[in-house]
Amino acid sequence: MTAAGGVLRVLGRTAAAATLDLASGGVRAAEALTDAGTGRISTPGTLRVEVILLSDERGRPVADPASVAPALTTADRALTGGAGVRVRVTGVRVVPTPAPAAALDARANRALLLDDIIGRTGFYRRHSSAGVAPGVGSPVTVVVIRSITGRTTGCSLGLSADWVIVEASLFDAGDPPHYDETVLAHELGHALNLPHHPDPDNLMFPASSPPDGLRGTGLTRWQAALIQANRRVIPGVRRSGNPPTTGGGPRPRSSP
Ligand SMILES: [Zn+2]
Repeated sequence: MTAAGGVLRVLGRTAAAATLDLASGGVRAAEALTDAGTGRISTPGTLRVEVILLSDERGRPVADPASVAPALTTADRALTGGAGVRVRVTGVRVVPTPAPAAALDARANRALLLDDIIGRTGFYRRHSSAGVAPGVGSPVTVVVIRSITGRTTGCSLGLSADWVIVEASLFDAGDPPHYDETVLAHELGHALNLPHHPDPDNLMFPASSPPDGLRGTGLTRWQAALIQANRRVIPGVRRSGNPPTTGGGPRPRSSP
């Protein structure tokens, strides 16, 4: 689980994405903190997520599509509770075409970044619906693959990709030494630009050891502000004016 610590990579599209994030992000992060200070109410923001499951050489899906539901619920709870951002699942589908070996059994972290640069990860891109021009509200695609080398079970390239990969064994509830609902949410955190955090109760703690040593799903206030500011997150509706009243009488109207 890991990856994108330092996100300033020398990739054209990464630089473009970083610029986008800084331009809209700085302002929105400041607004989010202002909201927290003044008690103004915003409805939750939305992060769109799609899940695709690859199929092996014989055309068998690497996992049951229904098995990813608990991890998606965990991600929604973590981001809604910790950052006021809902996870809206736009689809969970199997790619029936047998995936090439490099896509089915991926390399991790730096090797994956290298593979991405030389085009070995094209299969993920072709089967995601993110499109080629990510912008505000573009979805993150979670790709469920058969295996990742070493002890890594999930990987994200951070800003430089619109997809994250997670290993199928994470979703097998009948396999307690591997079953881990936190990894999907952790990789979404990386896709939203969050680096690792040293607190084991935090969602971005680097390690998680099922069944007894799972990382937590907490988020700090700053992590919440970064998530809310990310270009992938569709902002919630902001309400201007006075805090809501609790008594009778006319309430302040919200503006769009
Ligand atoms: Zn990580």
